[in-house]
Amino acid sequence: MTQAPEDAALRRAVPPVICYPNDSLPVPDLALYAGARAGAEKVAEVLAPPREAASFEVKAGQFFRISCVGGPQVGDLNLWNARELGERFYSGKTRALHGTHVTTGERLWSSFPALRPMATITDDSLSWYGIDAFGGSVHDVIGTRCDPYTHNLLSGGQYHHCCHSNLTRALADHTGMSLAEAEPHVHDVLNVFMCTGFTRDTGQYFMKASPVRPGDYLELFAEIDLIGALSACPGGDCSAEHSSDSAACHPLLIEVFAPVAGALAGWNQPPVNGYDRSHGR
Ligand SMILES: [Zn+2]
Repeated sequence: MTQAPEDAALRRAVPPVICYPNDSLPVPDLALYAGARAGAEKVAEVLAPPREAASFEVKAGQFFRISCVGGPQVGDLNLWNARELGERFYSGKTRALHGTHVTTGERLWSSFPALRPMATITDDSLSWYGIDAFGGSVHDVIGTRCDPYTHNLLSGGQYHHCCHSNLTRALADHTGMSLAEAEPHVHDVLNVFMCTGFTRDTGQYFMKASPVRPGDYLELFAEIDLIGALSACPGGDCSAEHSSDSAACHPLLIEVFAPVAGALAGWNQPPVNGYDRSHGR
């Protein structure tokens, strides 16, 4: 370790500034969404079985709810623009804009060059959780997704029910693509119900048993036409480990709700980002 300079304490005492102040972001009209949701009817549902993923479609202006049904369980969510799979959920930028965890009123942003809200969180039964004494919180956009490559790197072996593989199979089945074609479209996830943080002493990414219980849910409003895939993570409640069949795992329910005609008067799909893409030439 290097020798600390004389002014080390002064340098450490500089207060932080927020990287991306987000008070200039467009504000979702949550009251309009709540009114539309109140009269909405369920139009579809699908169950993601334990250690498997399910795919679903949500039209712009519809809602989808992810519910814990059986027991504490984490879900790994991927979202794509249903018309253009190249536009997909961008967890890193969502984290930069909103923080390490997301809840009601925050958006799931899409990749460049669109960089627009794909979905807005309209309801979260775990919003009470806040940030615990360990620095942990729920609905993580820190982590990536459990995958067989990292598993092989760290432990060796072949495990086929990591979220990465589950999402790959679900997208392939949904679109008719081969596994090889589908895999590059799988991306870093929203870890629904996952409770995580960084250790204060070593800065390491930690997880702890999710506080989710049967009946808890996260609900989102689709800002554009979406294909979604949700994997019921082999880590179960993510209290111990990933990438094996040893954790207790439960299904997750996805339900889609359609508002009645006219309920979203005044709402428009968000346009793609305004940058002209000339990159200085
Ligand atoms: Zn997983």
